[in-house]
Amino acid sequence: MDSRPVNLRQRRSWVAPVLIIGAGPAGLATAACLTAKSIPYLVLEREDCSGSLWKYKTYERLHLHLPKQYCQLPLFPFPASYPTYPSCEQFIVYLENYREHFGIHPVYNTKVTLVEYFSAVGYWIVTAEEKPSYNEHVKIVRYLARSVVIATGENGDPYMPSFSGEEKFTGEISHSMTYRSGEKYEGKKVLVVGVGNTGMELALDLANFGAMPTLVARSKIHIMPRDLLGVFSTFDASLKLLKIFPMWFADKILVFLSWLTLGCTDKYNLIRPAEGPLQMKKMTGHTPVLDVGTVAKIRSGHIKVVPAIDQLTEDGATFENGVEEKFDAIIMATGYKCSVTSEWFKVEGEPFEKEEIFNAEWKGRYGLYPVGMSKQGLMGCARDAVHVANCIADLEANRRINPT
Ligand SMILES: Cc1cc2nc3c(=O)[nH]c(=O)nc-3n(C[C@H](O)[C@H](O)[C@H](O)COP(=O)(O)OP(=O)(O)OC[C@H]3O[C@@H](n4cnc5c(N)ncnc54)[C@H](O)[C@@H]3O)c2cc1C
Repeated sequence: MDSRPVNLRQRRSWVAPVLIIGAGPAGLATAACLTAKSIPYLVLEREDCSGSLWKYKTYERLHLHLPKQYCQLPLFPFPASYPTYPSCEQFIVYLENYREHFGIHPVYNTKVTLVEYFSAVGYWIVTAEEKPSYNEHVKIVRYLARSVVIATGENGDPYMPSFSGEEKFTGEISHSMTYRSGEKYEGKKVLVVGVGNTGMELALDLANFGAMPTLVARSKIHIMPRDLLGVFSTFDASLKLLKIFPMWFADKILVFLSWLTLGCTDKYNLIRPAEGPLQMKKMTGHTPVLDVGTVAKIRSGHIKVVPAIDQLTEDGATFENGVEEKFDAIIMATGYKCSVTSEWFKVEGEPFEKEEIFNAEWKGRYGLYPVGMSKQGLMGCARDAVHVANCIADLEANRRINPT
């Protein structure tokens, strides 16, 4: 949505029992669960389609990182014909079929800017900027709702760290959110900053397209093969091990099996933390990287790994180990930040700390529910959506019995 002037003469308001903000997997899943309970709702989406993150902000070679049974949304499984790890394209088709199956019709091009609660009426007032087409003015629309579901995602905006000397660098600096494929980087030296799942996969993609990628590994990481010994899903194995063993022992088995599959990654500057992968996830929320071929390319010398950046120079970067290198482009695979800020929320005119909402997982206060905000990917979206729909259904049933 651009910053064309707001036409205040065109204000409008709507009333809906439940308002869902965001038509990504979390918003669609909540809408589907409410449909199954015959509870009316309205979905608002700032972009011009559902699943916009998957359509506009991911790279072409992306496949789901976890087996499909852990990524499907409630009440509508993936088609049996889908592979264990569906492609981004297949996931987009699945989302579109999901939306159609449950008759979900989000209001697109509508960006929520303020969510305010007024206890005297027991309603939330949600303010949004609506801009149906390029030629039209932005309209301010107000929605009244008893329950509001925040399904705006944890990856709404790119996180771009700054580096000393950044202004001197004459090459292109971009974020992984705008990366589609390595085609345009053929023959170029590209610095990929960040060794999460995205950074590792972009480096692999760049190498496959004939670029010369270098990965910056600033912190210690656990790299696990996506499939242990090439057969069992590491994620699946982790869940099964945790049912039998204490976490520390499950961690030891996982690290040993990873070592058998990938070999020692420390010698390539990919240093494992002392804590095991499951322990790390519990402590920091950081998921281990699931390798889909990058380690082999590092081993074969097609991808280099360097320590943290010291500073950027006119035509490259210097690193903490004192080495200086030239690069044509830099891609920040440095993660995302949630597009929702604390300024978004008000209760009785007072600011309402965002953390109060998101730390409460699915349990909403004043009828405000976060869905998909607990760093658990699609699995978390599906679980939260079911809980939140049940909770709203109970609330609505109580209201019918006690209408005051
Ligand atoms: C490259 C990449 C790969 C990933 N791979 C996986 C994977 O394999 N498995 C997995 O489980 N997870 C994966 N994830 C995490 C993924 O983001 C989530 O699992 C999933 O998309 C979360 O769905 P969501 O609906 O919560 O958020 P999103 O998909 O981000 O959807 C949020 C929606 O809210 C809209 N919105 C935001 N702000 C506003 C506003 N103010 N007003 C109106 N609408 C708004 C956005 O436009 C968006 O459509 C990946 C993420 C990325 C970036």
